[in-house]
Amino acid sequence: MQTAAFWKEQPCDKVQCVLCPHNCIIPTGKSGICKVRLNLKGALYSLIYSETTGVGLDPIEKKPLYHFFPGSQILSLGTNGCNLSCSFCQNWQISQTGNSERQKLTPDGAVRLARQESSIGIAYTYNEPFIWFEYVLETAKKAKEQGLKNVLVTNGFVNPEPLMELLPYVDAMNIDLKSINDRFYRQTCNGSLPPVKRTIETAQKHCHIELTNLLVPGKNDSEKDLLELTAYVSTLGKDIPLHFSRYFPLYKATEPATPVSTLQNAARIAKSKLNYVYLGNLEGEESSTHCPKCKEELIRRKGFLLETYHLSGSNCFKCGCNIYGSFK
Ligand code: SF4
Repeated sequence: MQTAAFWKEQPCDKVQCVLCPHNCIIPTGKSGICKVRLNLKGALYSLIYSETTGVGLDPIEKKPLYHFFPGSQILSLGTNGCNLSCSFCQNWQISQTGNSERQKLTPDGAVRLARQESSIGIAYTYNEPFIWFEYVLETAKKAKEQGLKNVLVTNGFVNPEPLMELLPYVDAMNIDLKSINDRFYRQTCNGSLPPVKRTIETAQKHCHIELTNLLVPGKNDSEKDLLELTAYVSTLGKDIPLHFSRYFPLYKATEPATPVSTLQNAARIAKSKLNYVYLGNLEGEESSTHCPKCKEELIRRKGFLLETYHLSGSNCFKCGCNIYGSFK
């Protein structure tokens, strides 16, 4: 076990973990809400350092990141645990249980693997990377030294200090904005909205970001919610890519899968204020990136594969408009 970062001693051998806004006070022998940070006799340890439950080479589009080196592959790593407990979790087998089969992969091993594969870097994904903080930080530093990119796919529920410590090594983040409604976060996810907004607003100043909103029927897909969410994202910038993702009934959720018409309606609303809106988790989906100025189609995708690519550097090949993101 690795000594954890970001905790404080408390009386009677308790500790307070201050990695995420839960700020758990943990008695000895117990772990925090995320189940992967354990108090042993008044010191906090990570139970998942170097422990992976998933290692794979994924298209960057799968994260989803559509404006960050499109068409690239990225070594993707995940482990167990999460600091939220969304009733509709789409990755619950690894995030909400601690019993998945794990394989050891040291930070050096991860970097070596990323360099062997034709990968642009390492994505910390599948479960919540911030609760894997010690491993992610060390691996990200080593990856950066080797010229690799670091990508976080995160719920954004983290305290400012650890976020700021990791951000210098992070190149891109896809952050879940699960709802614009704090009640949804409290009732359905055991979290809250303000820390997520704070993470989005901070990350935007330091790295490339894209946002994902998983639409759960009857929970976060009202016209009012979608209008407010779109308005919020537009205050960050019209160019921030927003992905609406299809939900399927998994874990504790029983509502039927999101109707395609709901996703299309969400896209229609968001496109009135945002330049880049995408739908995801749809079988065989096709999507395009258009130039916001001249409307020319610049990238066409089928699923995660690029069918056409018409950018000149970071600019529209036709009118020269600069396109938000990092391109080859
Ligand atoms: S990271 Fe885990 S232990 Fe630490 S405050 Fe958050 S939920 Fe609690």
